[in-house]
Amino acid sequence: MKGQLLNDPVFGMAAGQFDRVADFLNLDQSVRERCKWPKRILTFSLPVHMDDGRTEVFFGYRVQHHLSRGPVKGGLRFHPKVNVGEVAALAMWMNWKCSLMGLPYGGGKGGITCDPNKLSMTEQERLTRRFAQEITPFIGPEIDVMAPDVGTNAQHMAWILDTYSTHTGRFVPEIVTGKPIELQGSEGRIQATGHGVSFLATRALNKLGLPVQGATVIVQGYGNVGSYAVETMSAYGMKVQGISDITGAIWNENGLDAEKLRAHVAQTGGVAGFESAESIDPDEMLLRECDVLVPAALERVITESNAPNLRCKILAEAANGPTTQPADAIIEERGDIFLIPDILCNAGGVTVSYFEWVQNLQRFHWTKTEVLTKLETKLEKAFENLLGFCDRHKCGTRLGALATGIKNVARVKKTRGLFP
Ligand code: GLU
Repeated sequence: MKGQLLNDPVFGMAAGQFDRVADFLNLDQSVRERCKWPKRILTFSLPVHMDDGRTEVFFGYRVQHHLSRGPVKGGLRFHPKVNVGEVAALAMWMNWKCSLMGLPYGGGKGGITCDPNKLSMTEQERLTRRFAQEITPFIGPEIDVMAPDVGTNAQHMAWILDTYSTHTGRFVPEIVTGKPIELQGSEGRIQATGHGVSFLATRALNKLGLPVQGATVIVQGYGNVGSYAVETMSAYGMKVQGISDITGAIWNENGLDAEKLRAHVAQTGGVAGFESAESIDPDEMLLRECDVLVPAALERVITESNAPNLRCKILAEAANGPTTQPADAIIEERGDIFLIPDILCNAGGVTVSYFEWVQNLQRFHWTKTEVLTKLETKLEKAFENLLGFCDRHKCGTRLGALATGIKNVARVKKTRGLFP
């Protein structure tokens, strides 16, 4: 069976979404096939010296979905559940995201199956450098540019930059984005995804005629995206009442203190046990009444079992692929939830990555205000375009966003033609 290598529920979901949109757009057979399947699927075995003297072999993947509109762009994730099908799905979503935002990139994603919480920093460094070394022949600033994702951060990007630069014999900051500022990372990149989620949430509140001040929020996930979304929304005057992560879920009816929570998590490793908050059930938290519900963790958490019982007005998908297709159908049928689809909602990250890459290529350094203003302009435009599209075609925002992204890629494929 074609694509058997990618036999995985997350890939099935991304492919299912694609098929639905390809039917909607009436894509011709040739373009449809070329848009759907990834160009390159790379698998690496990564032997690493562990601190206790053993050698452990990890598996790492990089999927470069297509290079038709520019280099491949997307994150590298460290997580115990990473597999090639999931990575391929995430790469496909990166395509539509970059295309929707008008960024000159194809989509890519990488992952290493590991639990970063169980690896020391020196083990993580050896693993990251080994991966960077193995993948060096297949990447480059005009081929494939990685960035942080779940379980990785600026330090991992610094190690990739250093390994790649050492191999090529010159300093190549444009090989990764989301790197530390002192290595020519961009101002505003660290909070970019959370900032974009928060900005779009305020735009959705406006559309619904609801005030931003005092709007109630629930956030699932407190990694880079979730934590900066909490901080930015709190700064906007919104009230974040519930937050969960792998350690548990916390609730305060009057709003959780974003600054104190960051300090607590830095000290204890998770949100559990935070002062002046009650501990609640993380699954039940998703069903509580709120203005904005923000899934900011992993895929497939809004399912057909909880979708009928959601009590949010806005679903802001900060994670990639948080809503399954059956849940999507339920939400569409209900018609009472404003969905900000993932490929728009979390596009702040890759958009500022693009700004970082452009600054690197030009050896420029923009201010944080410049970066965040440019980001908001791009998001605003994409948001308004999407609502216009949905209005004209009488469709939901999921279909509208994917259709816009896929349509641009299909047009490029068609115009370039098929070689040989
Ligand atoms: N990992 C992020 C995402 O899923 C950012 C990718 C990037 O900046 O290239 O969109």
